[in-house]
Amino acid sequence: MNRRQHDHGHPLSRNTLVASSAAVQHDDPATAQPLNGSTAEPNDETTPFDGFREECGVFGIFGHPEAANLAYLGLYGLQHRGQESAGMCSSDGEKLHCRKNMGLVAEVFTEAVLKELPGKSAIGHTRYSTAGQSALLNAQPFFVECSKGQIAVAHNGNLTNAIDVRHELEMAGSIFQGTGDTEVIVHLMARSREQQLKHALRESLLRMEGAYSLALLAKDRLIVARDPHGFRPLAFGKLVHQGQDVYVFASETCAFDLIGAVYVDDVQPGEMIIVDSEGLHRERFAPQRKSCHCVFEHVYFSRPDSTVFGRSVQESRELLGRQLARESGVDADVIVPVPDSGVSAAIGYASESGIPYQMGLIRNHYVGRTFIEPKQSIRDFGVKLKLNPVRQLIEGRRVVLVDDSLVRGTTSRKIVRMMRQAGAREIHMRISCPPTISPCYYGVDTPDKGELIAANQTLEDIRKFTEADSLAYLSMEGLKNAVQDTAGDYCYSCYTGDYPTDLVGIETLLVGHHDRD
Ligand code: SF4
Repeated sequence: MNRRQHDHGHPLSRNTLVASSAAVQHDDPATAQPLNGSTAEPNDETTPFDGFREECGVFGIFGHPEAANLAYLGLYGLQHRGQESAGMCSSDGEKLHCRKNMGLVAEVFTEAVLKELPGKSAIGHTRYSTAGQSALLNAQPFFVECSKGQIAVAHNGNLTNAIDVRHELEMAGSIFQGTGDTEVIVHLMARSREQQLKHALRESLLRMEGAYSLALLAKDRLIVARDPHGFRPLAFGKLVHQGQDVYVFASETCAFDLIGAVYVDDVQPGEMIIVDSEGLHRERFAPQRKSCHCVFEHVYFSRPDSTVFGRSVQESRELLGRQLARESGVDADVIVPVPDSGVSAAIGYASESGIPYQMGLIRNHYVGRTFIEPKQSIRDFGVKLKLNPVRQLIEGRRVVLVDDSLVRGTTSRKIVRMMRQAGAREIHMRISCPPTISPCYYGVDTPDKGELIAANQTLEDIRKFTEADSLAYLSMEGLKNAVQDTAGDYCYSCYTGDYPTDLVGIETLLVGHHDRD
């Protein structure tokens, strides 16, 4: 089935779930996913509990006649946060309409699909996940019909005690449709004795540990909430339409720019914002806890044109590069970034060192998710497909190669080899963050500790592995300075191995992480 086609069967039927290219749509109470309902089939036992892999983008809008179209544009701006599936739910005031599918935002939301999402409010989600049926099962927003009415939830982050709570709920009779942690929140809400949606949500969230920035849509309101540590970002913006305030929420502010919204504030850690026909209401749902903003958002994950945790990502990255140049300067002829995410740090490095900056590596932006490799295998084909050196800028030169992370080291080695083949005389690898020595459990997919090269090898071993002439990482102090973290507001756990929350069922969380380097 073409991914643009829709399956009109029961959302839990195997036919819907088997084909990973099948779309999911829910409009009607009769086709919403029931909780504890007798019509639910048990989970497919061939689908393993695949761990949590969300690296997601969340968007919400309330009070605009073109809510779905604007949410589409917002999701488009958040595409870098997840490219495997995209989904949206809108409300026409009476009921919710939901469409989600595997694929990029522009692939999933054709004009025809957007027309099926009427109403003045909408939430949307982009998600990273593995291929296969479980991926579609876990695509968001997660939409249910329960004792609280129709609700849809889009979530970014990892709930670190989700396995424990899920087990408890299953023992009590709850039937889960997917393997993602978002569903746990919804089941808790369905079981809550609280009548008001915000109270039921509050009760559920207080059971959860870990990272969540979420948007919940009901027929007459939009609620957004952020965990009390504030791991993942969630920005609050506003635009005016025909004299009326329209409220928007997004993982990153770059989603606001395209729709003409302005950034107002962050949804604060432990805060819930409720928007309905009465207006906007902010309230704290959880006590203040130690602030743990994900520093990796500034190092790598967020777009440089975003404001994240109230701070410009571009500014942070340039400072990371400047700091790196101060800490580990080297005689060289040219500074070359590994595009795209190394660009801002390389600009900072070049400004601080006075060495010219050159785009000595060109990224192919049009590489799809699948490609046909020639039968005669080409060494390092995957990297070559994405990056190509500019020989004229590199040949005979001493190059400082600036990248934002070095996880397994394999990609770095391939890039170093490519640069040498293009004639680089020396290659000095500079990484704009400290060594990654521990996995993330708060919403960024990282490999197991055993695969993290810096967790297992010395700096010199890593240098030899990457085949660079020299290698240096940014220090922890340098990282803190670059994000100007004077109050200890950031999470650095993947660089320290110290985690600020309980990690229940951590072995399961570690299962099956994807490749990134
Ligand atoms: Fe971010 Fe690393 Fe903390 Fe995860 S462990 S939230 S990636 S800083």
